Amino acid sequence: MSVLAAVMPAPLVPVEIREFPEPDLPPGGALLKTAFSEVCGTDVHLWHGRLAGVPYPIIPGHVTTGTLDKARGPLRDVLGAPLQEGDRLAFFDVHRTCGRCLACTAHRTPTRCLSRRVYGITDSANEGLFGGWAQKVYLEPGVIIAKMPDAVTFEAYIGGGCGLLTSVHIIERAQIRLGDTVVVQGAGAVGLCTAALARKSGAGRVIVVGAPADRLALARDMGADDVIDIDATESEGRWRRVLELTNDIGADVVVEAAGSPRAFEEGLRMARNGGAYVIAGHYTNTGDSTINAHEHINRKHLDIRGCWGSEVGHFLRALRALERYGAEIPFARIGARTFGLGRLNEALEIAGALEIPKALVDPWVV
Ligand SMILES: [Zn+2]
Ligand SMILES: [Zn+2]
Repeated sequence: MSVLAAVMPAPLVPVEIREFPEPDLPPGGALLKTAFSEVCGTDVHLWHGRLAGVPYPIIPGHVTTGTLDKARGPLRDVLGAPLQEGDRLAFFDVHRTCGRCLACTAHRTPTRCLSRRVYGITDSANEGLFGGWAQKVYLEPGVIIAKMPDAVTFEAYIGGGCGLLTSVHIIERAQIRLGDTVVVQGAGAVGLCTAALARKSGAGRVIVVGAPADRLALARDMGADDVIDIDATESEGRWRRVLELTNDIGADVVVEAAGSPRAFEEGLRMARNGGAYVIAGHYTNTGDSTINAHEHINRKHLDIRGCWGSEVGHFLRALRALERYGAEIPFARIGARTFGLGRLNEALEIAGALEIPKALVDPWVV
């Protein structure tokens, strides 16, 4: 049996459908029958060639979900439960870290492991089905697999997708405390999920800064109390609005999920004295920001933290959050449109133009 997959041959070259043989599974290996994958900001960066060291051609799609098609030998999920064909699954997209480098050991920052391998990003299509834009995905031995909780639909899981995993990590880095005012810059998948999780983490007020209007309406439905439309305001006005909403104090925590050097400059002003700022949207180099170290950081006694990638713990907590809150938080609405394998160039254009928060991929539609 052959498997259809969408392959990105090289940066800026149209994505094309290719046929792959079903792999022979080694002991402990498995095959996932894809239900959905996604087109996220990373895929747009991959297409624009903005990430270093990518072994094109690749099958993109790093966060993916579906059912267990087959496995060689007994297979268990990360909680130890035996897995059977037909079980609904999610798997953690980082399938290898070395466990020996400084990042993995002394620094305890495995997302910075130099030999980290991630489905849909670091594995060439010449090695096989290592991406979610395919009807089936090869789960190599050792991949972290979790059974999808019964209450969680595929649509909710992939609607949150990699943005949800990232936002679990953001919330951890932000150390949100009960009653905190949190500003989230950006209303893409990461910003929307961060707003939802900040609310559930006890934030007293959640303010989302972004656009367009329908995305901001979704931000409110996800848990934002206030929204600031960047299309209808200037930087100065946005800063004043945040002051107005915080009794002239500024936000306890600001999260940057916009990927813009201007957003960083703006967010520094929005944070209160002694507050925290988490940078999560600069996944590629979008250029320099201009800041005044005295005014924006030192005198403010500001805490600035980066947030890179996610770990297994974030993946598992994302699943628990979906299970607990999926009925009240409309994660599935983030996945605004679904595209078949033959329409992924269009999906990349639309995602690149930020027209929708997220495009889903259904590889069984061509
Ligand atoms: Zn390592
Ligand atoms: Zn992603």
